[in-house]
Amino acid sequence: MKFAQINGVKAEAQQGLRGTCDICQSVMIAKCGKERIKHWAHKSKISCDSWWENETEWHRAWKNRFPENCQEIIHRDPASGEIHKADIKTTSGLVIEFQRSAIQPDEMQSRERFYKNMLWVVDGTRLIRDYPRFCKGFRSLRQTVKGFFLSSFPDECFPANWLTCSVPVYFDFQGRDDSVPQEDARRSALWCLFPNRVEGFAVVAGVRREELVKLASTAPDLLIAQGNLCYIAEYIRLQRENAAAHTGRQYPDPLALLNARRFRRHRL
Ligand SMILES: [Zn+2]
Repeated sequence: MKFAQINGVKAEAQQGLRGTCDICQSVMIAKCGKERIKHWAHKSKISCDSWWENETEWHRAWKNRFPENCQEIIHRDPASGEIHKADIKTTSGLVIEFQRSAIQPDEMQSRERFYKNMLWVVDGTRLIRDYPRFCKGFRSLRQTVKGFFLSSFPDECFPANWLTCSVPVYFDFQGRDDSVPQEDARRSALWCLFPNRVEGFAVVAGVRREELVKLASTAPDLLIAQGNLCYIAEYIRLQRENAAAHTGRQYPDPLALLNARRFRRHRL
């Protein structure tokens, strides 16, 4: 973990320090070796949060994009009393989990059920074939409105174990490669696979990473599923009506076009 409590205050690991875990109250030891990033570990060597994985520089860089008061936040289920620590929980209540290593489907589902209002940010460079697959699959994506795409075969773009999530999954194909130029929009953007399908299509969206950080606090509804999918479904319907306009039917109503502009502002 990045933080432990010292005298009731969140503190980062420094050589020789001891702190306390704010979940189980046991002793934490600062680990500041050369092989891994500075972190805290339970003295007992057993983490009280079974969902916690060893952090990499990729995790830490993502966490550091958010304010400190949103990082490593305890989330408690009031009904069951179950406790876990979210990587990020914004002041709006949105939880963001960063995932680099492979994760079992049952744990993935457990986390989604537990946090509910959450999204994943996944390291898309974990396996060497992940980004080449996305590039190849990208050609088959069909753009709807700017930044949103439809896919009949999302497995041609994304790793199989992330295709059936119940929350949005944002793939980071840049990973820790800081040499990727900003102009390389396909790689420097995040690519979101939304849950559920619209008329059988998977919905994919490109979002700038700084935009994700901003919207997570200011407009989380734009990052999660429902509003976007309803909008895309409506857009497809209007397109269909437009096509039918040649046979004398009406053009889309002005309100729908206004909504389209609202969403476009937040997309690539
Ligand atoms: Zn603990």
